[in-house]
Amino acid sequence: MSNTPSRNEARNEARKDAQARDQSAQAAQGARSQKSRSGRKAPSGKRSRHQQSPHDDTREVEWIDTTEALSRFCAVMKEEGLVAIDTEFHREKTYYPKLALVQLAHSRGIACVDPLAEGLDLSPLDALLADPGILKLMHAGRQDLEIFVERMGSVPAPLFDTQVAAALLGLGEQIGYGPLVHKLLGVTLAKTQVRTDWLRRPLHDDVIDYAADDVRFLKPLYDRLNGELESRGRRAWLDEEQGSLLDRNTYVQDPLEAWKRVKGSDKLKGSSCAIAQKVAAWREHTAMRVDRPRKRILSDDIIIDLARQKPKNMGPLERMRGLDEGVRKKFGKVLLELVAEGENLPRDQWPKPKERPTHRDVDDALVSGLVVVLQVQAREADISPAMLANRAAITELASGKTGLPILQGWRRKLAGEALVDFMEGRSQLHVSGGRLQLHARQD
Ligand SMILES: [Zn+2]
Repeated sequence: MSNTPSRNEARNEARKDAQARDQSAQAAQGARSQKSRSGRKAPSGKRSRHQQSPHDDTREVEWIDTTEALSRFCAVMKEEGLVAIDTEFHREKTYYPKLALVQLAHSRGIACVDPLAEGLDLSPLDALLADPGILKLMHAGRQDLEIFVERMGSVPAPLFDTQVAAALLGLGEQIGYGPLVHKLLGVTLAKTQVRTDWLRRPLHDDVIDYAADDVRFLKPLYDRLNGELESRGRRAWLDEEQGSLLDRNTYVQDPLEAWKRVKGSDKLKGSSCAIAQKVAAWREHTAMRVDRPRKRILSDDIIIDLARQKPKNMGPLERMRGLDEGVRKKFGKVLLELVAEGENLPRDQWPKPKERPTHRDVDDALVSGLVVVLQVQAREADISPAMLANRAAITELASGKTGLPILQGWRRKLAGEALVDFMEGRSQLHVSGGRLQLHARQD
């Protein structure tokens, strides 16, 4: 899982520690080869950062670089009906994320699988991920899932995402793995460094240990979270909440829709929208074909400039800021063709930009009142109000819009109905014992 830059400092401290430990370890034993990790029992006392842990975890961390070893590890996971998984990947230089490491855990061991190893075939793992009888445990798995959808063509299910589960229990909307492990299990993890080059070989032992920690606690977290969800009657909420994570369409995007994600496209009008659509779709296909990030092909700004200026020949392209010569020489002709195609598109085929809601006629005070009602409901359910709806959604509700998430499923029961009641005058706010309460109106 990726780390947020805000934790850089803690991470740098951990890194210094790790380097110091690493250097003394290397000096003492000489550099070990990557391979020697296989089957190596972690020496007792080495994992000093886990000494406070209630989990006396003596599982070995195995470096897996053969299909046979992966098959053996997968056989145990299959037997246990559970795959605890995380991945490390890079996508700075490619369109498709480049898988660099796969971490797996079962009750007896932890594996760091090297997808770069020559001859290693991930299909034993793919088979487990595709098996509907095997539960997949992940933390904030969206990007990992994207990789597997690309590999396998389908979304691994069933899934238990510990970040989503935590949010449904009021533990924070998007709590990180480290903080969650700390909160629920009392274990303080050293963080992996944000700038770790996961594609490098050999990986340092400490880096491998940190990576292993990303799956080490998934099962204990699952046990705690799942138990809580069950006892609070929220297990079904998880399925609702994970619906989009498990929907293949979340990961596979239509190139014809790509222009809506181009910065500034919501301000385009008329045939400019058609041009932006053509150029952005072309950029998407080209980026996929050459496996390069889309913005390395063409920047968002250039797409907007082309859509606005509608150049007819090379002249304006030469004067366009930020369009470098190499790109212009290589793609200039194609871009002019795309502009012409967009411009000539019949009016009834012009795509429409993403709608920007305007709510001039909504009473701001009413919206604020509804936000307060939302806060009361969230407090009673011990969940973050932001998990239910934000102010923009409440504004839409106040303007009479239907089909909003707050009016569906568990959100409806927890807060949506109360909001509608309040809006229609059937309830009122009232202070009692220093706390704001919502009551049915008594006339
Ligand atoms: Zn990770």
